[in-house]
Amino acid sequence: MASRLADIGIRSLEDLLFHFPLRYQDRTKITAIGGLRDQIDAVVEAEVRAAAVTMGRRRTLLVKVDDGTGLLTLRFFHFRQAQVSQFRQGSAIQLFGTPRRVGGQMEMVHPEYRLGESAQLLEAALTPVYPTVSGLGQSTWRKLCGQALALLSKNPPGDLLDGITDDHVSLTEAITFLHNPPPTAELSQIQQGTHPAQIRLAREELIAHQLTVQGVRDSERRHPAPAIAPASSAAAAFLKALPFAPTSAQQRVAIELAEDMAQTQPMLRLVQGDVGSGKTLVAARAALDTIAAGYQVAFMAPTELLAEQHYATLDAWLTPLDQSVAWLSGRTKGQARQHVLQQLASGEAPLVVGTHALFQDDVHFHRLGLIIVDEQHRFGVHQRLSLADKGVGEEHPHQLALTATPIPRSLAMVAYGDLDCSIIDELPPGRQPVTTTLMDHTRRDAVMRRVGGACREGRQAYWVCTAIEESDTLDIEAAEATLDQLQQALPDVQIGLVHGKLKPAEKAAVMAAFKTGELQLLVATTVIEVGVDVPNASLMIIDNAERLGLAQLHQLRGRVGRGAVDSHCLLLYRQPLSDTAQQRLKVMQESHDGFVIAEADLAIRGPGELLGTRQTGLAAFRIALLPEHEPLLVEAQEIAGRLYERDPGRAQALMQRWAGARADFARV
Ligand code: ADP
Ligand code: MG
Repeated sequence: MASRLADIGIRSLEDLLFHFPLRYQDRTKITAIGGLRDQIDAVVEAEVRAAAVTMGRRRTLLVKVDDGTGLLTLRFFHFRQAQVSQFRQGSAIQLFGTPRRVGGQMEMVHPEYRLGESAQLLEAALTPVYPTVSGLGQSTWRKLCGQALALLSKNPPGDLLDGITDDHVSLTEAITFLHNPPPTAELSQIQQGTHPAQIRLAREELIAHQLTVQGVRDSERRHPAPAIAPASSAAAAFLKALPFAPTSAQQRVAIELAEDMAQTQPMLRLVQGDVGSGKTLVAARAALDTIAAGYQVAFMAPTELLAEQHYATLDAWLTPLDQSVAWLSGRTKGQARQHVLQQLASGEAPLVVGTHALFQDDVHFHRLGLIIVDEQHRFGVHQRLSLADKGVGEEHPHQLALTATPIPRSLAMVAYGDLDCSIIDELPPGRQPVTTTLMDHTRRDAVMRRVGGACREGRQAYWVCTAIEESDTLDIEAAEATLDQLQQALPDVQIGLVHGKLKPAEKAAVMAAFKTGELQLLVATTVIEVGVDVPNASLMIIDNAERLGLAQLHQLRGRVGRGAVDSHCLLLYRQPLSDTAQQRLKVMQESHDGFVIAEADLAIRGPGELLGTRQTGLAAFRIALLPEHEPLLVEAQEIAGRLYERDPGRAQALMQRWAGARADFARV
């Protein structure tokens, strides 16, 4: 047991005490079916009305139960035949599960249940549910934490906030409450994060997190960096060749970058700007300055498709300035790879564009001066920092991170706390807002005809396919099936297909044909989510849009509305829609502003999902909740700043206590 616990970072009683429940189940009372709320777990006592097996897309056992206040449907996908006959009409049943509202009706998928009059699922207090790994069951966690609690009063962990904050709840009380909530504890209060025990611990956790972020930033800033002067002649030649003038927001951010890069400490800057705001241009200017100063630039993108697009853009921009652009991805193999590695090591290649392949151990630079990481939210902090180690000797390159998913300020502080932030808050002139329409997928045939009509008028369209179930392979199958349907329905339209499994050359050929207008319609999986830039495309259809998150929908929609014509986005959905899916689609219809959408996303989904688990271990906060604990953040940052300077011993202890939650930072 000890070694199993050690594997997940639990080595002491204190570690165990700080392993907090992820959530709680409320099995303390019976809830009437009429009083069930969407996504709120509940125990229900009812009578079986009917049970039947249906043969839809999936064999399903449906059981209807009734308690006089309403009807509830139980849905089982995995079941034995014997189970079916257990649900006799009129039997008493107690069940525990998560209700979902589906088309006005409540439903539970795979609830726990007991049949018969004497069934008993109730408990006296809230039941903790611990984060766990396979092989460690909930009852084991409850037992271990119970044992640790019994020892707590004899040997309480040090109160590291003593004299810093004035909480009414002691550390011991807070820990006890969370592991062993008394019968009076209210689940709704805990879910909102407003119980004083949670506030006490969230404050400490956020302070510890800010200390770690500060540490990362400091250790980066201790390295020397090459001072890079703005190369006015290169910049002038570059801007002169562009078919447009930079926006004032682009100008302002370019100046901010130039000021940072003129220092002898590494720039650590994030440029946030909505989809289509022109971040690439700003990055390219920083790259030119770096090259003119005799240093190299590494430009990294999270997907091969996006990296290829950047390669094409930068190559077109830099070739007239007599600068070559090198390419390195995971698929660059053999001689081609050796050649690039050699060019980077010798300094012959001033600029390399690529994917994750860029930060592998065998990639060496002659004089790396700047790293640019596009779509930073797709990478971990760790990955950015491993590129930072590729400078010359002690020297570290400047760091420029770009992100198109605007995130609320509170989250930015947590996720990118080690970076300074610039915002491009203006879109290039002439952009047309995209009209967004929701449509039931039963009207898909009519939509196909409409797309055909638009293509015949010379417009170009994307048809984005997502499968009903989460899977890359199924997405591709859905895209292939859609291609077939569209080809049959629209024989006179030139249609292409792009997805993640195509060979790079095939992908490049399809994208090029779409860009030149040879193809009018592009069927794609969500691989086109980031970076794809074809200004003439003005129509986008998204299949099963209810499956995608807001950030993803916003990014996808950002592929249209880039040219001068009116653009449209059609979100096709399938009934029944969950409440959250409905909210998401409504937000998409009503808003185009990335920040508004991000705030809505945070409110609907919570931060863990918003940023993804790869992001800074944010999903792994043990206690702190965002946006609920946002008000604590500013204070945490101030306290962390003070402790970092004046009480390094205590700072160290705090970081250590909470370290496991932020493995991404802790490893650097
Ligand atoms: P994002 O911020 O989403 O990465 P891009 O850098 O891909 O945006 O730019 C989107 C499109 O806008 C590209 O076609 C780019 O050439 C164009 N663009 C960038 N800046 C301007 C500008 N100032 N005026 C007009 N078009 C611009
Ligand atoms: Mg971009």
